[in-house]
Amino acid sequence: MALRIGLGTDLHRLEEGIPLVLGGVVIAWHKGPAGHSDGDAVVHALIDALLGAAALRDIGFHFPDTDPAYKGASSISLLKKVHALLKNHSWQLVNADVVIHLQAPRLMPYIPQMQQKLAEALETTQDCISIKAKTGEKIGLIGEERAIEVYAVCLLERF
Ligand code: MG
Repeated sequence: MALRIGLGTDLHRLEEGIPLVLGGVVIAWHKGPAGHSDGDAVVHALIDALLGAAALRDIGFHFPDTDPAYKGASSISLLKKVHALLKNHSWQLVNADVVIHLQAPRLMPYIPQMQQKLAEALETTQDCISIKAKTGEKIGLIGEERAIEVYAVCLLERF
């Protein structure tokens, strides 16, 4: 059986008045990620992990931020496209594990919804998608609420 591991990360600056969308879930908050698309750092990191595992380049290669088609794009729709691409290359997801570094708000209540959204987009079950949230201990870019950073790893198997 062919197995492949992938790693993805994403970092966005946080700015006042921008909607906070993580894992396809809209979170009520006064700050959000500046970005060309909806700035969904969870989905962006996950996409890079998936593409990395399949050695299919990266998110910027497939969805260039110079392309107006992706301005304000729903990142979940990009994730669905990546899932289709992986299927075309005979890869299926075994599991993914995501770590979100964000000082505020507390993400605990939103995690099951995020798992559900991501699992739907990837045609898998919630128990294959793990999401954890950590604060920045009030220091540095994360702790001072200036940025969000996400790490994702995934395992793919050949079908
Ligand atoms: Mg991003």
